[in-house]
Amino acid sequence: MAEGATGLLAGIERVGMDRRRGGFSRHGFDYAEMELREWFSEQADRRGLDVRADRNGNLWAWWGPPGPNAVVTGSHLDSVPGGGAFDGPLGVASALAAVDLLRARDHVPRRPLAVVVFAEEEGGRFGVPCLGSRLLTGGIVPKDAARLMDGNGMTLAEAMSGAGLDPQRIGRDGEALRHIGCFVELHVEQGRGLVELDAPVGLATSILAHGRWRLTFFGEGNHAGATPMSDRRDPVVPAARTVLAARRIGESVPGARATVGRLSPNPGGTNVISSSADLWLDARAADDAATRAVVEQVTAAAKDAAADEGCELLVVEESYGGPVTFDEGLRGTLSAVLGDVPALPTGAGHDAGILAAEVPTAMLFVRNPTGISHAPAEHAEPADCEAGVRALATVLGHLTSTTGRTPW
Ligand SMILES: [Zn+2]
Repeated sequence: MAEGATGLLAGIERVGMDRRRGGFSRHGFDYAEMELREWFSEQADRRGLDVRADRNGNLWAWWGPPGPNAVVTGSHLDSVPGGGAFDGPLGVASALAAVDLLRARDHVPRRPLAVVVFAEEEGGRFGVPCLGSRLLTGGIVPKDAARLMDGNGMTLAEAMSGAGLDPQRIGRDGEALRHIGCFVELHVEQGRGLVELDAPVGLATSILAHGRWRLTFFGEGNHAGATPMSDRRDPVVPAARTVLAARRIGESVPGARATVGRLSPNPGGTNVISSSADLWLDARAADDAATRAVVEQVTAAAKDAAADEGCELLVVEESYGGPVTFDEGLRGTLSAVLGDVPALPTGAGHDAGILAAEVPTAMLFVRNPTGISHAPAEHAEPADCEAGVRALATVLGHLTSTTGRTPW
């Protein structure tokens, strides 16, 4: 069982391949993600870990009986549409490989250790990122979550039922949270920070504030040939102007990011003037005020553009999370145990960022040679992945070597 993180990833390299987009499309409770959950359960079984799903569809594999002050590691197995092989699965595979390494070192944990797989971290199917950890911590109202709908009109409640879960029981899980003494997530870096620092592994300091907003423009559906240019209320036009506004406004706020990665004209026919158009804004910045400022300015520009075209605009906030600073005490301990590893911030959101509001949380990043992520070109060299496993095993070994009230 010494296959390492890259060996484990090789075992799932065909699951959820996306022939149209390239890369992988693995979304919460879909066929590919269910296959990956099955893979994870088998891998955990093989290691004698006790696997159970919580009420919110997150999977937990326990080394030792579940109990308070456990050291928890893990990540997610779902992807963005057409995503890379490392975002999420590297953290899960590294956690399993770290367990192997600790066993090879004859390590006996003195407190419970768990590997967790969070459900629908990317929000690629139901639109809300970190859905499993948000449900676990009560960061989303259960009845609102149950009604979330995927692109085919299936609700989260229906998808969870199909996966053998009871959607009536989703929501904050105090018992599961009480088990967590601390959470350490390993993740491929989504940026070139470690390349510039010439280091294979680093520790995360903070995450930008970030959220998602859906802007729907309502116009008048009509015929592309029979409708004179002067007689149109085409919602795609203000949507397009909003894309340009997002770029301009994102550039004007220092350190901010504003992205439109998804734009959907409805009904979406080549010879059809759309009746409505949905556009999703992903906005991030260092703090709440800067993020809100970006969103307010983009929304104002969208409103003006809609009015010019005689369209209506509806804006819905689909998710929001303030900036996260990871626990300094835990990071200090990890830094001392790992020696000379750099610490760096990230613009990407993670389950660790959601859990940070509840328990001490830390993240380890593994170098990404191009910095590309959320795309098929995402990569980490095998040697760096194994350096990540060794670092994670060292951290987990240290944190599970005491029986005190807290793991560090
Ligand atoms: Zn991720």
